[in-house]
Amino acid sequence: MVTSFVLKVASRCNLNCSYCYMYNLGDKTYLKQPKFMSIHTIKTFAEKLSGYSKENGLRSFQIVFHGGEPLLFPKEFYKESIRIFTETLNDSYFDFVIQTNGVGLDEDWYALFNELNIRVGISMDGPKEYHDKYRVFHNGKGSYDEVRNAIQIGLDKGMHGVLSVVNLNITPLELYEEFKNLNIPSFNLLLPDGHFDKLPDDLIKEKVNTHNYTPYADWLIELFIIWKSDPDRPNMRFFKTLIQLIAGEEVGDQMVGLKKNGVAVVETNGNLEVADSIRACYEGITRNDINIHTHEIDAILEDPLFDIYINSHQMVNEKCLNCPIYEVCGGGFLLNRYSNENGFDNPTIYCHDMIKLVSYIQNDLINSLPEEVCREMELTRVSYYEIVEELENAGAVSVQKNIKDKLLAYSLA
Ligand code: SF4
Repeated sequence: MVTSFVLKVASRCNLNCSYCYMYNLGDKTYLKQPKFMSIHTIKTFAEKLSGYSKENGLRSFQIVFHGGEPLLFPKEFYKESIRIFTETLNDSYFDFVIQTNGVGLDEDWYALFNELNIRVGISMDGPKEYHDKYRVFHNGKGSYDEVRNAIQIGLDKGMHGVLSVVNLNITPLELYEEFKNLNIPSFNLLLPDGHFDKLPDDLIKEKVNTHNYTPYADWLIELFIIWKSDPDRPNMRFFKTLIQLIAGEEVGDQMVGLKKNGVAVVETNGNLEVADSIRACYEGITRNDINIHTHEIDAILEDPLFDIYINSHQMVNEKCLNCPIYEVCGGGFLLNRYSNENGFDNPTIYCHDMIKLVSYIQNDLINSLPEEVCREMELTRVSYYEIVEELENAGAVSVQKNIKDKLLAYSLA
């Protein structure tokens, strides 16, 4: 079921980050959206959510205020929105979150978010020289100083954590030291958006998913070693989730694991859609005619792209079904599997990176645990090269035809 809703309360941004899926990776449909979500739309959404909650026996929701840049949404709208949600669904529990670029996030904003019980996450890309290269204002000026300021204020005001996109040009040590120097208590990493026909800048097309080319795994393993050897390490969700998955826990998200993706996006005009980063596949791929002003929330389950997204760790390419680390990797994030030729019927562009990273962490875990514990957890050593070779001859488990057809339906070939 969908239990997490990303509200695009502002469809414009005060930054112009070079890798942004909304503005710089191929989709311009945001230009047709209202700049801000109206209170009328919030109210309609809350009413629909109330009906959906009763019908499905759901009492707990996550509401993520997102953009564009959500701090462009006026302060009084936040007050009104929270009042509407808590009054309309007065028997439900809400986890309110805001994910912001941090520009303009001052003491007044933190006071408001504390009052409204909204957890604050800030996006940052590491040391100034790198952050300022990618996370820039529309005039090209870097935003590091503003974001650093917002983090420093937030350390005493309950900032939840920092989110970063992996940048291979920053050494893992530089990134780690930056976050340690800022006293950031918790951070998470995202692999860059991109797919086989629009690769992240640092990937070389001819080498992707070849034996000796695993730049993201090499970078992440280096960071893992630094993080693990630090007795006072901050919480790092990305590594923590992988460790839990290797240990057999049923965790995960849209990136890894086998859990269903119960996340839907509500656009500023009330459109209900699949996760917006999927837009980087091609112009308009996420657009449908489902709108909370005219439809019930359940209608999103009829959207064929949403069907693939929510089941994206089950609807996978044949290689993934045969992969020894499938339960950890889950085939990767849906966007990263896309190609014009095969639609979503591919392993992720980070396939070999995931195999190398997961096998490293699994072997490291085995080295650090007593033998009997490893036996109980059914943990066995894995070798990157053995898995890669095994996958080249994979084929024992085939993908059901109806699933393969759904994945291929988005091919442009
Ligand atoms: S590592 Fe590659 S083959 Fe294995 S599940 Fe992930 S994407 Fe699929």
